[in-house]
Amino acid sequence: MFNYTDFLGQKACVLGSGKSGRAVAELLAAYGMDVLISDANPNPQLTPSLHIEVETGGHTPHVFTCGFFVKSPGILPSSHVLQAAKAQHIPIFSELEVALSFLPKNVRVFAVTGTNGKTTTTALLGEILKQRAAQENKGQQVWVCGNIGCPVSQCVRQVQPGDVVVIEVSSYQLEDSTYFKPNIACLLNVTPDHLDHHGSMANYIKSKERIFLEQSEEDVAILNAADALCAQLSERIHSQVFAFSAQPKHWIKTDVFFDGDEIIFSQGARLTPPNLKGIHNIENSMAAALMAMADGVDSEDIQTVFNQFKPIEHRIEPAGEIKGVTYINDSKATNLDSYEVLLPYLQEHCKRVLSIGESMDKIERELKGQFPITRCDTLEKAVAYAAAQASVGDVVLLSPACASFDQFKDYEERGKVFKDLVRKLQRA
Ligand code: ADP
Repeated sequence: MFNYTDFLGQKACVLGSGKSGRAVAELLAAYGMDVLISDANPNPQLTPSLHIEVETGGHTPHVFTCGFFVKSPGILPSSHVLQAAKAQHIPIFSELEVALSFLPKNVRVFAVTGTNGKTTTTALLGEILKQRAAQENKGQQVWVCGNIGCPVSQCVRQVQPGDVVVIEVSSYQLEDSTYFKPNIACLLNVTPDHLDHHGSMANYIKSKERIFLEQSEEDVAILNAADALCAQLSERIHSQVFAFSAQPKHWIKTDVFFDGDEIIFSQGARLTPPNLKGIHNIENSMAAALMAMADGVDSEDIQTVFNQFKPIEHRIEPAGEIKGVTYINDSKATNLDSYEVLLPYLQEHCKRVLSIGESMDKIERELKGQFPITRCDTLEKAVAYAAAQASVGDVVLLSPACASFDQFKDYEERGKVFKDLVRKLQRA
């Protein structure tokens, strides 16, 4: 467990100079600790400040004079510098663990992880807890942080006793978190992802499981009962487990299910889900509701938020309607190991796949002869093709199932370009 008083008089080495690396360096410096930020890549914008030294474009032996390392989420566990630190028995902590060690007492921590749905669930839960705080009007603040936006290290500096913190946690943040004990934690699903980073599926699952490892009886774990890998973990969890399933099939007993219309809780409450498309969003809503209820939130407060909640940008976000054809932006759908797993869904629901960018060949290889595909090269050509071919009642869905970096800065730019193209079509 990280405690900065164990390292008084020693220097901290923060590996990585991204948002969370800089934030944790500033947090430690604010407590008077000397910090060295070390980054293998150049970062010309980064300048030293009081208590903070900087080295970029490579790690020097200087890093090994530090008392401990703080690892930014993006640093590969297999990197030389981490391996060398381990060999020299220098303790390594995650940014998450270090940040949370500075939380005041009497702050409840909610944590959401999973391969998909983290941002949506975290945002929903944040809104629900804010709704309760507004109703109670006792000055409680709800802090929503982590992967969803503000680094945890930046957020904790503003948290007051009695506040609540909701964290979107990635598998990168969980690895090397030897001590992480959220009061209420949720694992939404586990499918193969980021395996190049974690080295294997077993390591990926291990890092996800860390969200529950330190929990005890008074804590709460929320699991997706329809996800076999999630369900398997339930036996190893020491906290109180509540499970949800939006599917008829599930692996463990559920406390909430979906009747196709309402979300129904075994204790009797019934909720109308938010107006979000997709059964996966029912799962996200169930998870957020269960987490809130486990903390005593009234179902009325949850329903109020469900009634108002709008899709988050780039996540099954309606992008417009033209001549009876609906356009949907799901640019955040970035992860998929193989297109073959999509085949049954494509066959059931889709007319045609339009492929763009670097993944065109892979998509073609895996689907050719089994499903109609048209190579479009660019998003612009794909949208024009779809608009020309679609008939009334059709949906044109940007759901790329791959990264965007060959043609765009990131998934956000890809989604914005898609929405601009739809707007242009609307004006034409
Ligand atoms: P994350 O933060 O985990 O990436 P998001 O809430 O940003 O998740 O959603 C990203 C994309 O993942 C969505 O656009 C949707 O395609 C898909 N998705 C969202 N929730 C789920 C879920 N519960 N199960 C499977 N896929 C999901």
